[in-house]
Formats: sequence, C-alpha cells, structure tokens
Amino acid sequence: MTVVPVYNVMLVPGSVAYLQTELYRRATGHSPAPDEKVTLIVTKEPQTREELTAESFYPVGLTGVVTELHPEGFIAVKTGERVNLEEITVANGEIELFVSRRPDIEDLDEAANRRRLEAMRGEMKEIAKNFRWGLGADVFIDQWDTLGEIAAVISPWMVSSNAERYAVLAEDSRQRRAELLEKLIYENLEMTKLNQEANNARQEDHQKIYRESAIRKQLEYLQKELDELHPENVSDIRKLELKIAESGMNETARKEADKLLNRLKQEGQNSAETGMIYNYLDFLTGLSWKKEQARSIDLTEAEKVLEEDHFGLKKVKDRIIEQIAVMNLKKAQSGSILLFVGAPGTGKTSIGQSIARAMQREYVRVSLGGVRDEADIRGHRRTYIGAMPGRIMDAVQKSGVSNPVMVLDEVDKLGVSYNGDPSSALLEVLDPEQNFSFTDHYMNVPYDLSDVFFICTANSTDTIPEPLLNRMEVIRFQGYTPIEKQQIARRHLLPKAVQAVGLAPEELRVTDEALETLITEYTRESGVRGLKKRIDALCRAAAVRRARGETPVEVTPENLRELLNDHPIHSRTVKENTTPGIVTGLAWTSAGGEILYIETMFTKGGGKITVTGQLGEVMKESASLAVSLVKHLFPDKAELFEHNDLHIHVPDGATPKDGPSAGVTLTTAIASLVTEKPVPATVGMTGEVTLRGAVNPIGGLPEKLMAAQRAGVEQVFIPEDNVEDLEDVPAEVLSRLTITPVRTVEEILSALGVTAEEPMLQAV
Ligand code: ADP
Repeated sequence: MTVVPVYNVMLVPGSVAYLQTELYRRATGHSPAPDEKVTLIVTKEPQTREELTAESFYPVGLTGVVTELHPEGFIAVKTGERVNLEEITVANGEIELFVSRRPDIEDLDEAANRRRLEAMRGEMKEIAKNFRWGLGADVFIDQWDTLGEIAAVISPWMVSSNAERYAVLAEDSRQRRAELLEKLIYENLEMTKLNQEANNARQEDHQKIYRESAIRKQLEYLQKELDELHPENVSDIRKLELKIAESGMNETARKEADKLLNRLKQEGQNSAETGMIYNYLDFLTGLSWKKEQARSIDLTEAEKVLEEDHFGLKKVKDRIIEQIAVMNLKKAQSGSILLFVGAPGTGKTSIGQSIARAMQREYVRVSLGGVRDEADIRGHRRTYIGAMPGRIMDAVQKSGVSNPVMVLDEVDKLGVSYNGDPSSALLEVLDPEQNFSFTDHYMNVPYDLSDVFFICTANSTDTIPEPLLNRMEVIRFQGYTPIEKQQIARRHLLPKAVQAVGLAPEELRVTDEALETLITEYTRESGVRGLKKRIDALCRAAAVRRARGETPVEVTPENLRELLNDHPIHSRTVKENTTPGIVTGLAWTSAGGEILYIETMFTKGGGKITVTGQLGEVMKESASLAVSLVKHLFPDKAELFEHNDLHIHVPDGATPKDGPSAGVTLTTAIASLVTEKPVPATVGMTGEVTLRGAVNPIGGLPEKLMAAQRAGVEQVFIPEDNVEDLEDVPAEVLSRLTITPVRTVEEILSALGVTAEEPMLQAV
C-alpha cells in the first residue's frame, strides 16, 4: 500500500478522485502503477515530501485503488472507505502508517438524493451551454452518478479551501456529507455564472467601443478623401475639428474644445457667439500642447553666443552658464526665476533674447509696465464681450512652443487697481508649485507653464511686492563705464546701426575721440539706450552725406555737433561752487546713479523750515534730522535758526529721490551754510546719518560712484561700512576718484574745513 499525502483535493468515499501524475510522483517518490493500492491522507499545509512530519496531517484518510493512468498527466483513483490514522511515523519523506476503518453513519435518504442529483445535472447542463466546450457535455454529465463524482471532476476548478474539502471527508453522516458536497458544488456553479455574466457584459461594452471607433475611423477616412478631392470645400468647422484632433491637448482642454465646437455646429454660422467661439478655438489650437524634450546645451557654445551678443556683464553671463549647467544635469527646462535689476539700457531685455539663443529656445517678451488689471495677466472670462487671453498665455501662444524663454519686462511697474492685483496673478504664474496647471480665465482650462523659463526685469526692487520678490533671484546690472560704453558702441551699436541704414562698414569712419565725446558730452545715463539713439542719428546723417556723394563719411569730435544737429549736454559736469550751503550729493534712482545739488539758504523769518524739490517723505525727515544735528554740532549758531527761515532745495531732475542716503549731504550743506564755509562742487558724498552724527551704509554705491565720475566729481565720502561694495566698482572708475570712507559726519566736516573756526586750507 502506498501512502499518498495530498492537499486541496476533493476526496469522497465510494467515488473517484483525480490526481496529477506529477504530484503523485513527488508525493510518493515513484510513478503510479495500475491497480496500485493507496491510502490518501490530507496535509494541513501545502508541503513538500521532505518537509513532512507526523503532525502535518489531518486524522482522517481514504483508501483507494489506481484505476486509470491518463497520458494527459493525471490518474483516477477509485476511492474506498474512510480510515483513522492511528499511528504515523515520517522519516526522510518515507511515511509509515497504521490505520483503522472509520465507519459512516448510514442515514442517507436515497430518493431525495436522486432528485438533488437530477437538479444539479440540469443546472450544469445550462451552464455548459454557454461555452464552446459545453457542446456535447450533456453526455458526460449524464454519466456522473453521484455528487462525489461531480465534485471530483470539477475539483481542480473549485474555489474551495483545503479545510472545506477535508470537512467533507471527515463528516461521518452520509446525509450531512451529501449536503456539504451539494453546497460546495452549487457555490462554485454560482461563481462560474457570475463570472460569465461579467464577461458577457464586458464583451458587450468592448464590442460597442470597437464598433464605434471602427465607424469613426471609417468616417474620418472617407471625409479626408472627400477633402482631398475638394480642398476648397473644407469648411472652417472641419478645419478646426482637424486642428483640435491634431493638437494633442490635455483631456480637459479637449472636452472644452469639443463642447464649443458642437455649439458652433448646432448654432450655425450666424449666431452672436460664432465669432467668439472661432477665436477661442483658434487660440486653443494655436497653443503648443506638446511637451518639448529637454535638450542638453553645450556650455562652450552657450558661452560663445552670450559673448557674441553682449559686451561685459561677466557676472550675469556666469550666472546664466551656471543655470544652464544645472538644467543640463537635472534635465530640467526651467529653474530659478531670475530678476534682472538695473537702469534702462543696461542690456537686461536684450540679454534675455540672447539667453534664449544660447539655450536654443524660442523667445517671447511681455511688457508689464502699467499693467493694473488682474485680467491682463490672467485673461477675461469668456462671458465678457471682447474677452481676451491674458498676456502670459498670449505670449506662450505666440512662441508656438510650450517651453519658451519668457522675459517679463518691468515687473516693478505693475500697478494695483480695483480690478484685482496683477502681482498675485503673476505669483501664480511663477510659482513652480502651481504653474503646472495655470488656468487663464479666457482659456478656462489648465495649461502647463512649468517648462517656461522666466526672466523678469526691473529698474528697481523697491516697488516689487515682497512675495513676488522672494520668488526671484536678483541679479544687478550696474551700468557701464565710459570705456565699456565705447566698446559696446564700437562692437555692437555702431555695426548694427550702419547696417540698418544700408551703409557698407567702410563707408563710415567714427574716430575713438568722436565716440568718447559722444559718450561723455551727448549722453548722461547708466545704460546705453541714449547712446544707441545718438549713434542711430549719426548713421542717418551719414547716410544723407553718402547719398550726396561723400565717401567715406568721417566722424570726428569736431563735426559731431553738425552731424547730430544738436548741442552737447553740458549740465552733467559739476559746476564751480563758491557759495556756502551748496553740496553735491549722489543719488540712486531707478534710472541709475545721479548727482544732485542740495542747496540751502537762510531768509528773513522766524524759524520755519521749508523743503522743496521733488522729494519723498524720507528725504523730508532727513532734512529735519540734519537741522537738529547741525544745531547740536554748532551750538553757537543755533540761534540763526530762530531768527531766520531755512529753505532747503533739491533742484535737479524729475525723478523722485527718496531714501535716507542724502543725510550726510543735507547735514554738510546746512553746516556749510551756518559756518559760511563753501564746499567744492567736485566733492560728492553719500550716507545715512543718525541723530548723533554716525554715518550708516547705503545701497547702490557702484551706480553712484559711476555717476559721480561721469559728472566730474573728484572726491567722494562714503560710509565706512560700504567699503566692501567697492569690489563691484570698475577699476576705471575707482582710479579716477579719491574715496574717503567715514564713520561720522564730523569727519567729513573737518576734512572739508567746515568748522566753526576761521577758514583754513581745504582738504581737497
Ligand atoms: P534694458 O532692458 O536694460 O532697458 P535693453 O536690453 O533694451 O536694455 O538694451 C538697450 C540696447 O542696448 C539694446 O539694443 C542692447 O542690444 C544694447 N546693449 C545693452 N547692453 C549691451 C552690451 N553689454 N553689449 C552690447 N549691447 C548692449
């Protein structure tokens, strides 16, 4: 007798059991032989022969005889009686077994059982009908004589557990056993039915989808054929349809577009909405919905491009190269948002264009100057008549790609109005956490802006709202020295202007001296915008001369005035000064550095202080602070303020000059007035003053020093704490200025001889 451990097999006494030949071999260590006597015992867990122990088995087994060996890989065992496992030893997979017979309780109602069997056969035939293999299954089903046989046949497909199956074997009552079997079989039949239903439903769905898409494809194909035969007949709607289909827009956009297209179809050409819908769909399909591949940019090549387009600006260029390197490594298309801050004409916008070229990407520019409505950024809702997309999406559409380099010009000139705050909308555009699904009101569907490389420009950071400023990395453009300007003019502005008027390069000769005069006497600016205008004018004048036959046209300092038909701006150079109470200050405005003269004067009166000129609040406060300080420093002169009115005036320019950095200048001017000691106009100064006379640091030192040098100032007093900023000042400027760092305003006064004593030799 062979002991055969089995797992998850349906064992019914007096019936049949099917076992896989391979499993039999593994469980017993040999191949089954015909008429081999076996005892089938049930393991609690699925175990290999080697893992078996005496505890592995349930206590009831079943005897049997191998009756059929099927070449398909299974054997049939005719099952006999149930047995109790009395004693069991397991060693190296060899099982020794003593068993005793386990009698059934003979309580089966044969007649009732027959009826049940019939019902079950009927049920099985029904199910079998639904399968191809079921054709002819009736014959088999009729052969099955007992529930046990049915269970044995469907055993491999039954979803019953080992324990459930063993429970049938362990049941002593024949009636109960039949009921258990019936329950198991019916459960499984039901499950088969359910599966079948689900399959059928799914199949129907699939069929519908396949059918629909097949019809669509057919239609499209036929329509295309027709369109090709008669291109003139392709309707606008059809064109839009094609565009929508080809655009690759996201799911939401596609739905919105389809919705509007349907409306267009239903309402016909003449509805009031037609134009709006056309425009909308035109806009939507004009956008690029494709994600561009991040490409790796050759750094040397990029450096070359940046060098080609702009002279100088080393720091800026280095920062851009860094950014490109990082983007290469991260395979990203965007990164930190850069904010270029500097005076007009310092190259902020144009370098944006050159960055796009270096990155081999499209370039678009959006001017934000004067934008006050949120709708300018985010678009109008379509319900408005004349609704339009916002400037950002408009620019993206114009670029034709989803990853342009976008320069947002003049972010410092954004306004706020009752129509919402454009800067908060801009914040959403720039925020990497949100901008992957930016929803323009006009579009009404999200668009991914995360691949757009944003660059902002501004003249000053003062008016940029804090949250916006925090998002950006500030890069300063300090303006150019005369030597740099000369290089820029020679290498960039002049060749371009010559070309623009249609002259050949050799037909216009501009001497270095002429350029220098042009820069120092005809322009006063940090950038080169004015210079560019002058050069353009020069080239136009030269073109006239060329047309009259002069070639080449020579430009020298002498004929500049005639060619430009304009006189030089002289006012920039400092004036002679012998009047006490006037001092040269250095200011920093959004247009770059400037010099300004602070004038003070006593008039008859009774102690009033008047401040005039285009001044901000801070400057007015600095004035009254300066008065107190002078009274403190020169107690003897304090009564002058009681018998006179003091008038302070800051005459130059139309740009508001605010900020406390005129403190030292105001104090020195008033001190000069009360002591009647004049201060030379070639001495400039900048610094904030405290009530005790300490000099505090200020901003924009490089720009101020450049302006001072441009204006002909020779000596400049700066706050001691600003000394490290001198690193950013071009050597050419430093070499022409005497710079004196100070800690207190008294140091300035004594250096200039503005003291209560009799005049002495002045320190300049
Ligand atoms: P911003 O945006 O700072 O006001 P722009 O970029 O409009 O200045 O520059 C004004 C003009 O000056 C442009 O024609 C630009 O090409 C030129 N320009 C400015 N800086 C340089 C430079 N470093 N090299 C060459 N050209 C320059």
